Amino acid sequence: MLAAYAVHVENTRGRRFPEPSHAYRNDFQRDRDRVIHSRAFRRLEAKTQVFTRRYSDHFRNRLTHTIEVAQISRTIAGALGLNVDLVEALALVHDIGHPPFGHSGEKALDAAMRSHGLCFDHNLHALRIVEDFEQRYAAFRGLNLTFEVREGIIKHSHTYNAPDHPELAEYLLGRRPPLEAQLIDLTDEIAYNTADLDDGYEAHLLSLEEIRAGVPVFGQFLSDVEKIYPDAPDKLKFNEALKRVLDRFVSDLITNTQMRAKQAGIQTLDDVRDHAERLAAFTLEVEAERKQAKTFLYKSLYFSPALASEKDDAERVVSDLFSFWIKNSSTLPHYYQDKAKEESLPRVICDYIAGMTDHFILEQHSKYFGCSN
Ligand code: MG
Repeated sequence: MLAAYAVHVENTRGRRFPEPSHAYRNDFQRDRDRVIHSRAFRRLEAKTQVFTRRYSDHFRNRLTHTIEVAQISRTIAGALGLNVDLVEALALVHDIGHPPFGHSGEKALDAAMRSHGLCFDHNLHALRIVEDFEQRYAAFRGLNLTFEVREGIIKHSHTYNAPDHPELAEYLLGRRPPLEAQLIDLTDEIAYNTADLDDGYEAHLLSLEEIRAGVPVFGQFLSDVEKIYPDAPDKLKFNEALKRVLDRFVSDLITNTQMRAKQAGIQTLDDVRDHAERLAAFTLEVEAERKQAKTFLYKSLYFSPALASEKDDAERVVSDLFSFWIKNSSTLPHYYQDKAKEESLPRVICDYIAGMTDHFILEQHSKYFGCSN
């Protein structure tokens, strides 16, 4: 049952290049499938989320994180009567513009671009991937995704203002995105906050007591679990508490978004788009809990001494290669040398690096800088 304020696929604003409809897949299902079959999607498997492979093969990478975001998003969208096909396409594409080495890679690439008066933004990069870099069809460049998926790539987590981004004018920058896109940002938060606690605990970088103290909502659930399963191993107590946190965040997002839509008198998709603020939101109480978890993760995991050297290495590899190719553009692959005749060299190098997997960029670094990795 699709809510009246959901995106209805028959009302899509369509594709840049019109295509005949498919016999048994609707447009958003086809977009989801196009994302899954893209090269950029497959490369997510070899890109760091938080932990590199040095720790363990069973920690999240950017692909498994993406699949978890898709799973959580489908549940929430279904409960809210939103378009699950669109939500799934948006979730699967949401991190496709990320460079190698997680946040460190992004930071280093942005810093390198800023030294040339430019910048790197993973959402804008994702749009370039699906509009231009993916080449699968003879009739057009890119994946020719529907307007709603492209709009969601741009608007799910960030508000770009129209004067600074004339190139994005078609994406209705002054209006809110549909609820399907609004959800993705919050689902992403739920997915990585819980997953990073899990991987951090498993990596022995976070102890049960540290998490109990730093993330009070987890601590409360852990106390409940200890009463129900006093003899269970710590890891299982941890799992039981963490899944209760995840469930609390998801349930809160569903019920609070429903309530906000009702209170605002939202009836149609236009009402969602014209509302003064985003409607998808946690209650203030859960928002505070989410922030506590995030603050704890920053302090105790992302900026922990244990991960510092890996982050420094990642930043060095990106900035070394960027500078190297600025000075030695003839060593770039021919495809990128040709592109540099039409676009600025820093942008072309940035596109090249952003597309790389962790493995490939390390290989490039060894090739030009020796085996210092
Ligand atoms: Mg993400």
